[in-house]
Amino acid sequence: MKKLVIATKNKGKLREMTEAFQEFSLEVLSLADFGDLPEAVEDGGTFEDNARIKARFYREKTGCACIADDSGLEVAVLGGAPGVLSARFSGFHADDRTNNEKLLEELERAGVEESPADYRCALVFIGEDGEEFLTEGRCDGRVRNIAKGENGFGYDPYFYVGERTIAQMSLTEKDKISHRGEALHKMVEKLRHIYKG
Ligand code: IMP
Repeated sequence: MKKLVIATKNKGKLREMTEAFQEFSLEVLSLADFGDLPEAVEDGGTFEDNARIKARFYREKTGCACIADDSGLEVAVLGGAPGVLSARFSGFHADDRTNNEKLLEELERAGVEESPADYRCALVFIGEDGEEFLTEGRCDGRVRNIAKGENGFGYDPYFYVGERTIAQMSLTEKDKISHRGEALHKMVEKLRHIYKG
């Protein structure tokens, strides 16, 4: 059976992405299946650059077809920050909790309780023969300084679409409206001709 590596260590992303490839008869693996791999240096200036860096790097390290995502939050009142720095917004040892604390501090510093915001996602696939596909997705909403919900990951408890946060939605609901869902659905379309003959 052909192998596809989902090049992430983020459990939230892995959950969302594994689901999308169920229709193919593929062995879906993640970086955790390869033990101690070195980490790709994500020093690109855009989501697309970073997704490509990761997909190429792990394609080479694993020898398998690879798919990598780079994604993040853009907050209008913060001039589009944290953007490509979303995972490390609060510094080198950042995690979801400290990143969300930083988001609240920055909203307060800007003198607002909420701001229009969007999530962006770039996905890059590199096949066994080196063929490369890019898809993108976007989810418009707003961030607000009141957390709601327990699902999702990252900034989801503070990211509202309508009156609910993404953390209040099921995985299926998130998939229908999210940046990653949009990019994944477009990618599945592109991969059908490779994996379904
Ligand atoms: P990456 O691993 O460099 O792509 O970092 C993405 C970061 O953006 C994550 O660590 C989260 O902080 C944030 N992020 C991306 N997608 C989502 C999402 O669907 N929900 C919440 N936060 C997200």
